[in-house]
Amino acid sequence: MSLSFKNSKLGTIIAFITLSLISLAGYLLLKDLNGPTFSFDPELGSRIGPRQEIILHVSDSAGIRKLVITVQRGAQRMKLHQETYADKPTSIEFPFTLEDAALPDGAFTLEIKAYDASLAGFGKGNSTTEETVLNLDNQPPRISVKTLPPGVKRGGSALVVYSVNEPVRETGVYVNDIFFKGYEQKKNTYACLFPFAESISPSDFLPQIMAKDLAGNITESRLTVNARNTQFKNDTLKIDTAFLEGKKAELALLAPHKKTPLEQYIEANTQSRIRDNEILLNIGENSTATPLWKGAFRALPRSAAKATFGDRRTYTHDGKTIDKQVHQGLDLASVAKAPIPAANNGKVVFAEPLGIYGNLIIIDHGLGLFSIYSHLTDMNVAVGEEVKTNQTIGTTGKSGLAGGDHVHFGFLVGGVPVQPKEWLDSKWIRNNITSRLSTAR
Ligand SMILES: [Zn+2]
Repeated sequence: MSLSFKNSKLGTIIAFITLSLISLAGYLLLKDLNGPTFSFDPELGSRIGPRQEIILHVSDSAGIRKLVITVQRGAQRMKLHQETYADKPTSIEFPFTLEDAALPDGAFTLEIKAYDASLAGFGKGNSTTEETVLNLDNQPPRISVKTLPPGVKRGGSALVVYSVNEPVRETGVYVNDIFFKGYEQKKNTYACLFPFAESISPSDFLPQIMAKDLAGNITESRLTVNARNTQFKNDTLKIDTAFLEGKKAELALLAPHKKTPLEQYIEANTQSRIRDNEILLNIGENSTATPLWKGAFRALPRSAAKATFGDRRTYTHDGKTIDKQVHQGLDLASVAKAPIPAANNGKVVFAEPLGIYGNLIIIDHGLGLFSIYSHLTDMNVAVGEEVKTNQTIGTTGKSGLAGGDHVHFGFLVGGVPVQPKEWLDSKWIRNNITSRLSTAR
């Protein structure tokens, strides 16, 4: 082989490699022509508050190299955030607020710029810049309370009527950790029913009124109400073998992983109770914005109360304590399978079996107030149906964990069980609810 032949072969190889590299580079430069894309959660409106969290989503199939967030107001520019990503992720979720920019009220531009990790632009990558003109709103909403009951009893209900000086995204009352929605009655005027749950002691009852404006500014302030204690009754419930035998089928369904009917009973009475009450809490989150009820509420006629709201129950078996729970309604017994009247006008929001409650009907009366009827034999209404006061909705029974034929009747405010005595007392309703509600009209 001659040297020149060798050289020409080498030349061909070099030429081939060079061509390959050029096309590879071309491919890498051209394959990704697009810069990163952005989206915001929540979507950017025109008004924004300094402490409102914005989650910026950046994505790019070639990976993200760099992100820069800048705010501009007039001639002033301020870099809010800059970050370089060594691992070139294909998507980023970056939560931020405008608090550090300390902007005054008024218009400014939010500029988001991101570079991808492609080799486009001779290694600089593609970039995208998005500018959004926003208005900074530093002013938290102002809440004016129009009426508030001077006192609330432990286990009872309270109504606050108030106005907010601007449109809101969310408003209501927090009672410790649970939120109770305020319902708009006329422009910027709200009514909020909230409970003093029987599980909270008067010193721990700390209702807070809250309003969040469209820019995300929040005002929260303590509602000063006189929280009065209630002395609840103690009660002992004997769970005997005959009762457990009679409930065998229900118990096996409620606690299938426990062996004996007694173990199943204890499990259902604690765990199923917790699950069932969470469902009530969820149902209580959505109510009709105005009261559907009118006048006094009715309970089962010609009945005797076998148990009352707030009873501290001790469950015993063979003389031993097996469980302790609080009774959350009124147990009313009449004749077996007695027809049950709807307590007042409303809309059926639940009508099916639920755990320990058995056949359960829940009626929404508006403003976050619901009545519940449990352990029924028959249910004569369906979800979505509007019912009138006194209309028969079902019959009493012993479905679920009930011993004898009765109806477990009660009221929920925002899904939390409250003292039925108040809602069955037309004078209490007039003084505490109706007369106060009229200030919202
Ligand atoms: Zn009951």
